[in-house]
Amino acid sequence: MSGGEILIVGGGMVGAAAACALAQRGFRIRLMERREPDCSWPRDGFEIRVSAISRASRNLFDHLGAWREMVRRRVTPYERMVVWEAGGGEIRFDAAELCEPELGHIIENGVIQCALWAVLRERPEVEVITGAELLSFEPSERRPALRVKQEGEERRLEADLVIAADGARSQLRELAGISTHGWSYDQHALVCTVKAEEGNQATAWQRFMPSGPLALLPMERDWFSIVWSTSPEEAARLAELEHDAFDEAVTRASEARLGRLTLEGGRGLFPLRLQHAGRYIAPGLALVGDAAHVIHPLAGQGVNLGLLDMAELVDVLVRAREKHRPLGHEQTLRRYERARKGENIAMQGAMDLLKRLFSNEIPPVKLARNLGLDLADRLSPLKRLLVRNAMGTLGELPSLAQPVAGESPHP
Ligand SMILES: Cc1cc2nc3c(=O)[nH]c(=O)nc-3n(C[C@H](O)[C@H](O)[C@H](O)COP(=O)(O)OP(=O)(O)OC[C@H]3O[C@@H](n4cnc5c(N)ncnc54)[C@H](O)[C@@H]3O)c2cc1C
Repeated sequence: MSGGEILIVGGGMVGAAAACALAQRGFRIRLMERREPDCSWPRDGFEIRVSAISRASRNLFDHLGAWREMVRRRVTPYERMVVWEAGGGEIRFDAAELCEPELGHIIENGVIQCALWAVLRERPEVEVITGAELLSFEPSERRPALRVKQEGEERRLEADLVIAADGARSQLRELAGISTHGWSYDQHALVCTVKAEEGNQATAWQRFMPSGPLALLPMERDWFSIVWSTSPEEAARLAELEHDAFDEAVTRASEARLGRLTLEGGRGLFPLRLQHAGRYIAPGLALVGDAAHVIHPLAGQGVNLGLLDMAELVDVLVRAREKHRPLGHEQTLRRYERARKGENIAMQGAMDLLKRLFSNEIPPVKLARNLGLDLADRLSPLKRLLVRNAMGTLGELPSLAQPVAGESPHP
């Protein structure tokens, strides 16, 4: 079945996945991205931006034919997860307890984006537009349009629906007059790659500290990708430390659970905030991914939620087309917003609560959370529920997030 023109702004992980999925279902796609990503491979070292990818997201990549592209480059499965607090409780998750091969995968963001671009470049239904500047958005339930400027010339691009996948600072969201609410966490995440003396043990580690969490996400062999959330001043100080002093600081912060950690390559800083769009939709427009919501990275859920948004939107659009309803009609898009907004707010709220709970040094709160971690560790059904939630396999899933029939490559 074919029909339906869709304009997607933003070819990051979520926008590129949307382009692949909608093209696969016969929609004609124009994908606007600032510039074509650099997908040369192999690369020296690891990229510092990585994502913990849930089972639901991996299913989605598999459906799109992008998973094998990622495996061909580099994906790292992890089988265990250890979460602890200094001098406090600890909880361990093990895939074997769930009879699963792994809990998830750590993948460089560029690997994900490039695998999706490799797929969309093969699809005749996708036209890529790079280097165009967005000027305005004209809302319409039947034929919304964008005015853009490309190589000095203004163009008007019409479609049946426009999708904003242009990230947290979405210009399209702003042009559509959709406001956001949220706050800064007054924390920056320092990200980098380290080599661990004791290898990666196929385990993801997270230590909660009053200043913020330190996550160690396993990469190939002995390497870990680090996300260390702390005050902006401390993050800036850590980013400037000499290599030896940084190694010392990060080894101490991890309580040397993996032996000595040694910095490899550069360090990056990302300000952290909570942000939610007041609406996900406008006439002829749908927001997906970070354009709709930004959450604290402590549970590695941001892009996983964005991919679920786009999978839900795909199901809604396919149903609308079957029923000959306009894609950009409020009734159509409302189904998408209803399906996703509540779930995203709940996840955002849970991450916010966790962040506050673990930043709190008031003795009863500290005691409660230590008891909580230890108790949760001993309660198998609760643990299973927590892990299934993190794997994204709880509840009703959009069709793209459901398992693929048959074999797919397992690294
Ligand atoms: C430190 C850190 C760690 C994280 N770890 C995890 C994790 O482990 N797991 C997880 O699930 N999530 C994680 N996240 C969140 C995750 O990175 C984001 O949710 C994800 O990048 C959002 O993807 P997106 O495609 O919606 O937006 P983006 O990645 O921001 O992509 C937006 C795209 O739109 C393009 N664009 C923007 N404006 C325009 C325009 N006007 N015209 C054309 N193109 C445009 C940009 O060039 C970009 O390619 C983390 C975030 C941080 C900060």
